[in-house]
Amino acid sequence: MNKTALSILAHPDDAEFLCAGALIRLKTEHAYDLHIASMTPGDCGSVEHGAQDIARLRRAEGAQAAALIGATYHCVEESDLLVFYSERTLEKVTRLLRLVQPTIVFTHSPADYMLDHEMTSTIVRAAAFAGPIPNFLADRRLGAVLPGIPHLYYCDPIEGKDALGREVEPGFRIDISKVIETKAAMLGAHASQRDWLLKHHGMDHYIQAMRDWSAKRGQEMGVTYAEGFRQHLGHGYPRENVVGQLLGIGGAAHEVSG
Ligand SMILES: [Zn+2]
Repeated sequence: MNKTALSILAHPDDAEFLCAGALIRLKTEHAYDLHIASMTPGDCGSVEHGAQDIARLRRAEGAQAAALIGATYHCVEESDLLVFYSERTLEKVTRLLRLVQPTIVFTHSPADYMLDHEMTSTIVRAAAFAGPIPNFLADRRLGAVLPGIPHLYYCDPIEGKDALGREVEPGFRIDISKVIETKAAMLGAHASQRDWLLKHHGMDHYIQAMRDWSAKRGQEMGVTYAEGFRQHLGHGYPRENVVGQLLGIGGAAHEVSG
């Protein structure tokens, strides 16, 4: 199996909150090639810079964070608050999947706190299905078809809750205690966002918030830090939990159902 993992999340710092620990472990323990993609360059994430300036800054921060773990950063170049499930985004994400040829894909929870995240989840789910289909938009040269649908995983929603405030229970948890400092260093590369969150959310604990969330998931499985995931198990998608097998499912081992 091709050892390539790709995360496709809405904004340039989402991977550092939600799945960087799993990505780091796939690379360091199993020699996976890593790719980190965001749907937008984070063009609304500032009160002091215009959209183009902050987008340029955040693309650079995304690339810098990815480079810390030897990953390649990609931006799908949509816009904040304007991520839609459409022919255009499905085409772009299918093209990205065919370029990267991942066997493991991480995206957002289908239910999350904001629509950019939910739309991204839907787009990636559909693109994973389209990736191996030769006749899908065949006239647009989307690249070499995937050999099969990749293993698709949903990260925790932000704060582990859907838009109605209901808890979203992970299907399984991955111990990231040994890589938490690297994950924090990656998040630290997104310097513009620490400023933005301070002004917009009154929150001056950007990295601490990530640590606190990882600690909560860790506590649930009896380790210091963890990340939670659910696997897409619908018809046609691979159901073998390769991430769980490679990284070990701690705590309640019976929770592998996804
Ligand atoms: Zn986001």
